[in-house]
Amino acid sequence: MFSVRLIGPGRAGRAMAAALADAGCDVRGLLGRGEDVTGAAEGVDVLLLCTPDRALAEVAASVRPAAGTVVAHLSGASGLGVLAPHPRRASLHPLAPIPSAEVGRVRLRSGVTFAVAGDPVARELVALLGGRAVEVDDAERTAYHAAACVASNHLVALMGQVERIAASTGLGLDPFLGLARSALADVADLGPARALTGPAARRDEETLDRHRAVVGPEERPLYDAGVALARRLAGQAPAGPVVPDRGGAPGHRTGRPRVVRSASAFAAALDAARAEGRSVGLVPTMGALHAGHQALVARAAAECDVVAATVFVNPLQFDDPADLAAYHRDLPADLALAGEAGADLVFAPGVEEMYPGFPSPPATTVHVAGVTEVLEGRSRPGHFDGVATVVTKLFALAGRCRAYFGEKDFQQLAVVRRLAADLSLPVEVVGCPTVREPDGLALSSRNVRLGPEGRGAALALRGSLDAGLAALAAGERCPGAVRAAMEAVLESAPLVTPDYAEVVDAGTLRVPEVLAGEVRLLVAAVVEGVRLIDNDGTTVAAPAGGSGAGGDEPRQLVLTTREER
Ligand code: AMP
Repeated sequence: MFSVRLIGPGRAGRAMAAALADAGCDVRGLLGRGEDVTGAAEGVDVLLLCTPDRALAEVAASVRPAAGTVVAHLSGASGLGVLAPHPRRASLHPLAPIPSAEVGRVRLRSGVTFAVAGDPVARELVALLGGRAVEVDDAERTAYHAAACVASNHLVALMGQVERIAASTGLGLDPFLGLARSALADVADLGPARALTGPAARRDEETLDRHRAVVGPEERPLYDAGVALARRLAGQAPAGPVVPDRGGAPGHRTGRPRVVRSASAFAAALDAARAEGRSVGLVPTMGALHAGHQALVARAAAECDVVAATVFVNPLQFDDPADLAAYHRDLPADLALAGEAGADLVFAPGVEEMYPGFPSPPATTVHVAGVTEVLEGRSRPGHFDGVATVVTKLFALAGRCRAYFGEKDFQQLAVVRRLAADLSLPVEVVGCPTVREPDGLALSSRNVRLGPEGRGAALALRGSLDAGLAALAAGERCPGAVRAAMEAVLESAPLVTPDYAEVVDAGTLRVPEVLAGEVRLLVAAVVEGVRLIDNDGTTVAAPAGGSGAGGDEPRQLVLTTREER
């Protein structure tokens, strides 16, 4: 883990210091004006300069170079030259507004894109923060920064004008904010030229003149500048349909899924497919796709006319912020894998699109009682409420469909089946078998975080399930004894911290007094700081003669003797 010192306790510096500390860095202070910075580069891996751009060169020059320390800045506009005389230089600039240190602390760890340059340490810091690094070298720096300022500062300034012009209506900013969000979502889906609507795009001069008359002389030059921007864009609008027709017969795949960022465009695309009589398959994921996800997409493609995968790292279901920050994100790779498996559409919304106002929690969440209270639910408080809430939202947007989920997350599958049934959602939930590596390790998006030793140690989960299955095959019907066999494997494995090993009734997920009928073995353990889960199932006969078993109806017997733990 990195040791980091920062200079410049403004909003960005304080936000960065807190975010790095939250991400596990050893933050060794944040120096301000008037403090002696001569030795600031000594004894740390990274010295991060968070001062205003104009002060960067002077501050960098007043720090004595220290062998091995990377001196980096947070500036968007500056190249690496300002960091002379330091031999190891880097920069990382978050493409995220930081209106306050508190907002920045959370935002910097919510998967933002950073422009990086120089020493590879910049990329490592970005990965620690859970961000995405894009390389921007010195030659492109100013253009990059100008674009970033237009995207954030000018947009905010434009909303200031909206507020002033709307003042006389008494409506406040809120309704116009909703409008701006939808327009931005359209830009993400369609590109700026196709997303443009309104009188400037239509060349409706009469309406524009009426606007100019009411906005007043102080606002008019700025309003006219906006009209000029819109006219310029309208001149670029490409011909052709807004939503490309992918054409072909049902089941036709091109290998390049269409990407949709807005919830409304996602819902509209699936409505349109159904209106054409095509059936819809839905595969919800958190991205970092692997062959397990591809198996779900491929099954959906085999059974449905149109397949939509969703890629959304749902913050509500993470009880551990470090796990959320470390979650692997790579949309281009996901699109390639989803397309290869047969997805037609990928819905990849931003957090704001799914939860407007995030990190404030949504007012409405979904809680599924019963199946959530054991196993994962007990270890990860709130996890299944997050899962149930996002899945309900995705089902609401997707409409009538078949939805494919992996047995890898067996309890999640039970939760999703329950909520679809209880809320009468028009969704048929389909469970699919777990895809494994040849040596038995269940594929998981988290496996990439394991080192070679951890990867070997993680086999203990499969080993634990095998030990439980072997005990059942040998006739063991006492849950405690099967559990003990499973725990023994986890406990004896190096690098493995067991969470639980359990054998339960597959329908209720509760531990029965005596095992019979369909049973499920489930394990969870932490390996090298990565939480892994796995499970397997089997059907076993009730013990002969034991517990008054009648032999003919073992399943019924188990149901009447089970108890809640
Ligand atoms: P995730 O992206 O981890 O939320 O998973 C998305 C879907 O893929 C869920 O339905 C998972 O159960 C499923 N899934 C994850 N890993 C596997 C696997 N190894 N085999 C089959 N399905 C999986």
